[in-house]
Amino acid sequence: MTFYDIKRQYNTFDFENYTTGVSDKMVESSMQKEILNDMDFLNLLSPKALNHIEEMAQKAHETSIKHFGKGILLYAPLYVSNFCINNCIYCGFSTKNKIKRKVLSFEEIEENCKIVSEYGIRHILLVTGESSVKTPLSYLKKCVEILKNYFDVVDIEIYPLEESGYKELADAGADGLTIYQETYNEELYKLLHTQGAKSDYKYRLDTCKRAGKANYRNLNVGVLLGLNDFVSEIFFAGIHAKYLQKSFSSAEIGMSFPRLRPAVGTYKPKTVISDKNLIQAICAVRLFINRISIAVSTRESKELRSNLIPLGITKMSAGSSTEVGGYAEKRKCSDGQFKINDTATVDEVKKMIYKKDYQPLMKDWTIL
Ligand code: SF4
Repeated sequence: MTFYDIKRQYNTFDFENYTTGVSDKMVESSMQKEILNDMDFLNLLSPKALNHIEEMAQKAHETSIKHFGKGILLYAPLYVSNFCINNCIYCGFSTKNKIKRKVLSFEEIEENCKIVSEYGIRHILLVTGESSVKTPLSYLKKCVEILKNYFDVVDIEIYPLEESGYKELADAGADGLTIYQETYNEELYKLLHTQGAKSDYKYRLDTCKRAGKANYRNLNVGVLLGLNDFVSEIFFAGIHAKYLQKSFSSAEIGMSFPRLRPAVGTYKPKTVISDKNLIQAICAVRLFINRISIAVSTRESKELRSNLIPLGITKMSAGSSTEVGGYAEKRKCSDGQFKINDTATVDEVKKMIYKKDYQPLMKDWTIL
């Protein structure tokens, strides 16, 4: 069964009607369970669950300590191109935006790698806009090979590939894949993605599965919070993650909770997700899938990131730049994807983690 088939079972489900009917008793009962089913997860995402946020946070904390200890993995994104053939109307890299575009040369990639690795980062996320013309598979393979000389773990966030493409990149050294569905609402997805390969909803939905079949070690899913109501979106991202965990038991499944940030263009978020709802979502996911890695990027403020540490997050980006080659550029040569919020250096992020009585980790595994 594909995830599309699973999701289709909820096509006529009325999320608003169900969640407004959730009682305190239902939330308490779901929270007490060792293994939560889909409806328990939804109960924890309901408005009523906000009355129980302290208990949820405490339980999420205990569950995280049990499965992950007190380590927070640090990683950084490296943008190598901002060319994109798609028109995602909320994104600064959209093909319709008149921005400065650039593809890094291999020498420029080396230069950026040297700088980021000197920060102490050992886990890198290779990011591109989505253009198989400007950044073909052969270019991406070479990028991964270069990155692998500087970093222990190389994850990729690029345009969706066939399983064979993922295998080629795995052979070059890629370890994991991050790909966001952005919104699981198929109708809304069509309205937001009006041009380019990304307009194929089903192909994107199956992307993690193709990478899983190519034996990727990390598979990360997520939605872009602000595009749609947060309850149904987090619910579908959560059951998608659970489906992947069942399908690929040797992979580490992860989830991110990016909230829309200001970017080039005029798109305004449909909904604003509050800090409290973000905390609720993180706790609910942790209780629904105990062993899932949860990442929080520099889209969030330093203060909030610090407060999220004990609640269940396991990964944080640090010292990030969302500009192409932004670590080495002395003057601006391209526009970033969005404005970052936490501008702390890697050392400052490490200090903040220690202050919370946790340990920053520069890598979480090594192949012997
Ligand atoms: S979200 Fe990704 S695919 Fe869409 S315009 Fe931005 S870079 Fe391109």
